Amino acid sequence: MLRQGVRLSSAIARRATSIDVDALGVATITLDNGKVNMMDRVLMPELIDGVKQCAKDGVKGFIVQSHKPNIFCAGLDIKQLHDKPRDEMEDFWRLLQDSWFTLYNLDQPMVAAVNGAAIAGGCLIACTADRRLMLRNTKGKIGYSAPMLGMVTPTFVMSTFQSIVGNREAELALGTARLYNAEEAHKAGLIDILADNPEELHALARKEVEQMIKIPNQARAITKKLIRVIKPKLKTDSSCLVKIINKVRPDEVYNLAAQSHVQVSFDLAEYTADVDGTGTLRLLDAIRTCGLEKSVRFYQASTSEIVQEVPQSETTPFYPRSPYACAKVYSYWITVNYRESYGIFAVNGILFNHESPRRGYAFVTRKVTRGVAKISLGLQKYISLGNLDSTRDWGHAKDYVEGMWLMLQAEKPTDFVLATGKTISVRTMVEEAFRNINVEIHWKGCGLEEEGIDAETGETRVRVDPKFFRPAEVDALLGDPTKAKKLLGWEAKTSFKDLIKEMVEHDIQMMKENPNA
Ligand code: GDP
Repeated sequence: MLRQGVRLSSAIARRATSIDVDALGVATITLDNGKVNMMDRVLMPELIDGVKQCAKDGVKGFIVQSHKPNIFCAGLDIKQLHDKPRDEMEDFWRLLQDSWFTLYNLDQPMVAAVNGAAIAGGCLIACTADRRLMLRNTKGKIGYSAPMLGMVTPTFVMSTFQSIVGNREAELALGTARLYNAEEAHKAGLIDILADNPEELHALARKEVEQMIKIPNQARAITKKLIRVIKPKLKTDSSCLVKIINKVRPDEVYNLAAQSHVQVSFDLAEYTADVDGTGTLRLLDAIRTCGLEKSVRFYQASTSEIVQEVPQSETTPFYPRSPYACAKVYSYWITVNYRESYGIFAVNGILFNHESPRRGYAFVTRKVTRGVAKISLGLQKYISLGNLDSTRDWGHAKDYVEGMWLMLQAEKPTDFVLATGKTISVRTMVEEAFRNINVEIHWKGCGLEEEGIDAETGETRVRVDPKFFRPAEVDALLGDPTKAKKLLGWEAKTSFKDLIKEMVEHDIQMMKENPNA
């Protein structure tokens, strides 16, 4: 049994790593062999052993940090890669791979506390973590300098990097050995949180781990695996899917992983087709390959974007208006087809926009509530938006998740629309969001000149920017949830007003804690 509050010595922490376990069972691994580029053939096996031992001893979470100020000293020891016999080099790469996968596949949450420059191996190790915190320090940079040294970035690192910063950014960054300063890394998504001083860095890391360990072990371990493996690979790697399905042998599969941003799908059309379209086929096939077609219940996240008439029910004809929607139409039909051909309990949920404080920043509700929060704290002057006249049927994500689950508990598999049955314009949503900070918005001008003005102070709080208009737009979305109400007893419980209030309040709190969030 693990003794808490002690520094684990010799057996685990031999020379290069010290591991402190605190009262909560969080282990802080400090990389500490005196060198900057310290990932060598001594440190790596120590790290693996230490982490495995801790996991066996019941450690609940990990923080990785470096002992040197201003340097996250986990760089690769390049010297060990030059003019060395081939088997030594092979040994080096094998150990690196082992360390990488050990950290990456930890069931426990891991946070990297990057205290400064983290290039080559530093970034590589940071990418294995669930969350990355970085010190906002002018010297600190993170990224891969490896290509500049003539080293090819290992594929497993590359795919993680891609899933963090996106395909295009990763291609550019790896091709040019790009290093990001803390702000840029934060913007690209490579860093989750920036800290202003070294003391704060560890405290924040601790807080992050603490939050993650509140999630029940099994749920977190499975979610981590699915998110990590499925997110980047689901849509491109069938054998990987088969392995996961075979290992987890699930009762229910919810196919939610997608490139889900409509606007982005115009830029990444082929990738979207592969991920959101063919990916569903691969997942259904993996279920069959594992012989689970008679036991698994499969939920396909279809979308309201595939139809255009309003109000939309389960029988409204499809008319996809974006590469995203086209891919989702394919997934809709392949789900129906596998249900009819192989008897899989597979259903499509056509869900109208479901929002919550967890919504991505690029979606309009979150963009607005985040902007309103910033404006209320004096951190931003106005919000730039695109089409203010389009209308959406906005509900709370938690209600919809319950509906998804109900679909898989039904007696027979069939497809459902989940919606609130009310449609509201972007303009009205903006007004509602501002009302939560006691600002009444009045509109003046029209088209690109239109502005939302604070009625009391006369300040401009909303502007229109053509870059947020879409090449093809779904002007109005409105769903008819009658079938779900009748067969599942489901209906949206949270009102639009309460939803927006929750999102604004959450974002104000978040901004107060971290103005850069
Ligand atoms: P979608 O319904 O899945 O496309 O969800 P979004 O939240 O991305 O967009 C909802 C609606 O808001 C669409 O009709 C957009 O054209 C409109 N909209 C207006 N301004 C913006 C903006 O700045 N960002 C986004 N994402 N949408 C905007």
